[in-house]
Amino acid sequence: MSEFNLIQRYFTRPTPQADLGVGDDAALVRVSEGNQLVISTDMSVAGTHFFADSAAYDIGWKSLAVNISDIAAMGAQPKYATLAIALPEVNGAWLDEFSRGFFACADALNVDLIGGDTTRGPLNISVTIMGEVPIGKALRRDGAQIGDDIWISGTLGNAALALAILQQRYQIDPNWPEDELAKWLPSLLRPQPRAALGLALRDIATSCIDVSDGLLADLGHILKASNCGAEIFLEQLPVSLYNLNHLHEPAIQQCALAGGDDYELCFTAPTNRRNTIKKISEKQNLLLTYIGKTRMDNGLQAIYQNKPLTLLKQGFNHFG
Ligand code: ADP
Ligand code: MG
Repeated sequence: MSEFNLIQRYFTRPTPQADLGVGDDAALVRVSEGNQLVISTDMSVAGTHFFADSAAYDIGWKSLAVNISDIAAMGAQPKYATLAIALPEVNGAWLDEFSRGFFACADALNVDLIGGDTTRGPLNISVTIMGEVPIGKALRRDGAQIGDDIWISGTLGNAALALAILQQRYQIDPNWPEDELAKWLPSLLRPQPRAALGLALRDIATSCIDVSDGLLADLGHILKASNCGAEIFLEQLPVSLYNLNHLHEPAIQQCALAGGDDYELCFTAPTNRRNTIKKISEKQNLLLTYIGKTRMDNGLQAIYQNKPLTLLKQGFNHFG
């Protein structure tokens, strides 16, 4: 199959939002009046970001989803993507499934694939995502104010625990009645970008980030950029029932606090916004949990049963 036919067959779909999509030397889009273009790129490398033998559908979904998550974290509307892909061989069945997963995510989040590049090489997928936000309204990392509430969407740690089980670094409690892995796998394989939440948080959140490297690391980025510290309340962390019951285990703490791949949004907001945030949570049927407060003292302090707790690092070390 020629490169032209491959692009035509697997990567050319209608692009209703663009003036010109795949097929020319470049795509043409307009930015809506009064808006800024928001741009982000993420590369997914086989063996590092996904297992090369994972289902191609899931690889396609996730390679776009993790990019959309960055646009969501900016409070922007995702609109366009480009896809640069290196393929070791032309495998029609694989490409069918990959593009099906990619476009399923694109359709769910209303993103047009408007261009890219296709080449032979070790499997490597680089997506650039573009979105729009009204000028000055983007949610940035540097806006948190001292005394803000810290919030997190969804559930933390499920993706990391699924990965730990797949890699045989964690053995699930044999006495636990339910098959948790089946419930957690979707978090790892098909993360749901929180685009609607990002949009709803404009004018409400003072800062925002998507949690791709674990809560501690990513909240740490907000604190550093905003030049403040924080207390987080461990009992408040939104974890699955299994994790709640095993929170004494360092591996479980590590997944909830430092596990990657959640793609939830962590954001700060003034305390007087609590009711508004609860309404957003109800409207979007998405768990939003208050997990801590920013403070003047730099650094991140965990609080457990009303006392400062220093086991975060231990949890990390035990696991590594
Ligand atoms: P050129 O040689 O001019 O760069 P290409 O042959 O690389 O053109 O690409 C032809 C068209 O197909 C361009 O519009 C490009 O954006 C698009 N394209 C190439 N690869 C992909 C891909 N993987 N997904 C989407 N569009 C692609
Ligand atoms: Mg090219």
